[in-house]
Amino acid sequence: MATFVIVGAGLAGAKAAQTLREEGFDGEIVLIGAETERPYERPPLSKDYLQGRSERDGIFVHAPDWYADNGVDLRLGLRVTRIELDHHLVRLGDGSRQPYDKLLVATGAVPRRLPGPAYYLRTVEDSEALKARFTEGASVLVVGASWIGLETAAAARTAGCEVTVVEPEPTALNRALGPELGGLFARLHASKGVELRFGTAAAEITETGVRLSSGERLTADLVVVGIGAAPEVWLARDAGLDVGQGILTDAALRTSHPDVFAAGDVAEFFHPSYDRRIRVEHWANALHGGPVAARSMLGQDVAHDMLPYFFTDQYDLGMEFSGDIEGHDEIVYRGDPESLEFIAYWLRGGRVVAGMNVNVWDVVDEIQELIKSGVIVDQKELSTG
Ligand SMILES: Cc1cc2nc3c(=O)[nH]c(=O)nc-3n(C[C@H](O)[C@H](O)[C@H](O)COP(=O)(O)OP(=O)(O)OC[C@H]3O[C@@H](n4cnc5c(N)ncnc54)[C@H](O)[C@@H]3O)c2cc1C
Repeated sequence: MATFVIVGAGLAGAKAAQTLREEGFDGEIVLIGAETERPYERPPLSKDYLQGRSERDGIFVHAPDWYADNGVDLRLGLRVTRIELDHHLVRLGDGSRQPYDKLLVATGAVPRRLPGPAYYLRTVEDSEALKARFTEGASVLVVGASWIGLETAAAARTAGCEVTVVEPEPTALNRALGPELGGLFARLHASKGVELRFGTAAAEITETGVRLSSGERLTADLVVVGIGAAPEVWLARDAGLDVGQGILTDAALRTSHPDVFAAGDVAEFFHPSYDRRIRVEHWANALHGGPVAARSMLGQDVAHDMLPYFFTDQYDLGMEFSGDIEGHDEIVYRGDPESLEFIAYWLRGGRVVAGMNVNVWDVVDEIQELIKSGVIVDQKELSTG
């Protein structure tokens, strides 16, 4: 009987296990996770769960019994310490070893850290620790005006905290959305009473707050750092797999070893539409990438070719984003951005390369079709719908 081992019991790993069973795999599935919780979804951790608006039960990928019911040997609180490609086995933190026929590495990413006493937001424990500190009147200093930083700022502000955000870029989400639409998020937060400090970095974090690169000191009850995440590639690298920004794979999520696959945040996979490798740290990439890797492990001819997709909720703004703005030369709007109910299209050479719908729903398929089609669009038609 074949044994498929999955390292990393996050969304990608759990969805891969589910797909293996749905596709009729009747061998052994071993799902190994370093965390003590069964696989859960991270987006609520910086949104409704952090705000105390949703229950803990709602974050999990599967019900507690699902693993036993589906013959998935879920081993939690256990870290894989080494992959031995030549022997087809992984070594575990408890000294044991687990042989495999096929291996999926879905080890995700970990927050980038700064020296000094600060909070981070990756795990359910991190979210619960922050929730406990977000009390009326507490002063919260957030380092980083990207997705996690802004969602954290929104949750803290909604809880009645005094919130300051520090960011070296000239505005919020500058790299993800560019200055025009990043600026819109900055104005949203300012309108809710968040103080935003752009063009300055956190030089030092202390018990009482932060010293900025400008020399100014800001005091705060707590500091939360959200400056991005680094893919957990060391296992793969030590094993001798090809690694770039993430674990390098082809479009079928096969690594440089034919029996090893990678999915989710940790994978840098070849995307047929972009004709290059990309790494995507978003929920939908793990949700769809896990199943693609599972099918690939079963020898099916598959490609992970979904467009990058992301969503966020901040205050009463909900948005979905598809594509990649890189190289865009124009932005076309349908609706008025200041009304916070609009669609933005990023164009390159007259073709749509990315789209963002803000408080407008059920348009993602249409936006993604436009991007995939690669047609030169009529801008007037695009702006009027
Ligand atoms: C707070 C937060 C909010 C987010 N919000 C959004 C959002 O709104 N929209 C969106 O699109 N995306 C969002 N994301 C991103 C999204 O959650 C991730 O892209 C997704 O979780 C990636 O899933 P994954 O399975 O690849 O990795 P992970 O979820 O990181 O799971 C990997 C697991 O592997 C385990 N692991 C690592 N190394 C080992 C080892 N050696 N042995 C055993 N286990 C190991 C880790 O402990 C972890 O549990 C958010 C992320 C965070 C942290």
